[in-house]
Amino acid sequence: NEKDGAKENDKPNTSFRDVAGLEEIKEELQETIDFINNSQKYTKMGAKIPKGILFYGPPGTGKTLLAKAVAGETDSTFLYASGSEFVEKYVGVGAKRVRTLFEKAKKEAPSIIFIDEIDAIGAKRNLDSNNEKDQTLNQLLAEMDGFNTSETVVIIGATNRLDLLDEALLRPGRFDRHIYVGNPNIKAREKILEVHTTNKPLCKDISIHEIANKTHGLSGAELANIANEAAIIAVRKNKNKIDKDDFNEAIERVLAGLEVKNPSIL
Ligand code: ATP
Repeated sequence: NEKDGAKENDKPNTSFRDVAGLEEIKEELQETIDFINNSQKYTKMGAKIPKGILFYGPPGTGKTLLAKAVAGETDSTFLYASGSEFVEKYVGVGAKRVRTLFEKAKKEAPSIIFIDEIDAIGAKRNLDSNNEKDQTLNQLLAEMDGFNTSETVVIIGATNRLDLLDEALLRPGRFDRHIYVGNPNIKAREKILEVHTTNKPLCKDISIHEIANKTHGLSGAELANIANEAAIIAVRKNKNKIDKDDFNEAIERVLAGLEVKNPSIL
């Protein structure tokens, strides 16, 4: 139940400052942040707070980070769940877990429920069966429909495969906002590298622009990994600052690792 130290019930101190290069998405999420921070203003006007946001796109692009930052920006409880945690052999177990999660979210509101890999429970249903997975999904749909307006709970789902999801999940009132989170372009890669090198001593010969240029097609997670590898390499070589060679070696290492996993990406 942990990811990047985000335990359940955490009030993360992650903010939008930690999320680099996703400016338009952050802009779009401002509305949700305002809903959460000023929920009374909206309910007085008879407006329902939109409760479901779906992030979709390739792995490692900052979906979890964004969700955590929304919680941080609104001082909300962050409840992390992975879709696969709900997939159980015994009928009713997954549905019960969904119920418990929502109960907790309501009790500790304002809260953000983040469900990573939502396709594990949200894949298209088998209309002629009533298996465990369908029951879990039905429970999730029921919970999303069952909120009353005074409860400030926002549910953020994340998936790499929007096309797999059951349409019932995407209907108005459920996950009706879909936000694509893609791999960063060169400008965004620069910003991500800046975020992940601010606390690292760098030699003057390092050009973030050059590194961004060499890392086309990589995700934010991979760039964070490169920055960390560079620091580790510098330590191993007993240097007191990270230099250009360390970064080049780190890039090679990370690219080689990716090539092994997926030869077609490079
Ligand atoms: P997955 O689909 O695999 O769950 P994800 O899209 O949720 O991936 P995150 O878990 O948010 O990706 O990203 C992993 C890590 O990569 C983050 O904790 C952060 O260190 C780094 N990272 C990714 N994108 C960004 C970004 N835009 N700005 C800063 N750091 C980033």
